Amino acid sequence: MDIKKKADWLVRKHQSRNPVEIVKGLNVVLIFMPLVGVRGFYQHFQRNNIIYIDENLPYHEQLFVCAHEMGHMILHKKANAIFMDSRTFLNGSRYEQEADSFAMHLLVEDNVLLEHSSCTIEQLSRILGYEKELIQLRTKGTEYQTAFNSARQMFSALDVIAHNK
Ligand SMILES: [Zn+2]
Repeated sequence: MDIKKKADWLVRKHQSRNPVEIVKGLNVVLIFMPLVGVRGFYQHFQRNNIIYIDENLPYHEQLFVCAHEMGHMILHKKANAIFMDSRTFLNGSRYEQEADSFAMHLLVEDNVLLEHSSCTIEQLSRILGYEKELIQLRTKGTEYQTAFNSARQMFSALDVIAHNK
């Protein structure tokens, strides 16, 4: 199952896109506490799934970190590692990129992208409040990308027509 399908499946099963609601439904131990140097991390310890989130983050970021850590739990449990997440996104590792991609698919539904299919990545980043790189992870290979590309092609075709006048 790919990352998007896993995220969509969880959303359907739990009738929610709120990662806090979903992890509660999955019996995850969710701990909000002040963290220094990291935004959050996931730990698989004695058969328990534990997600720690820095309680000092703004709510929007707490939700993102929760979704990102859930990504590690769903995708990387077998890696048997603790993922300490100090950065907003992409530290280059495949695991971090996958967890970010999972988070974005969980948090942002297709309809939102379709409604904004004429927006650029920069505009979507401002509207939705996520870094451009995260938006790119979300739009990569989706219907949105197809719609986006066809809109782009249409606009550039119109541009050519306009210039030919
Ligand atoms: Zn991570």
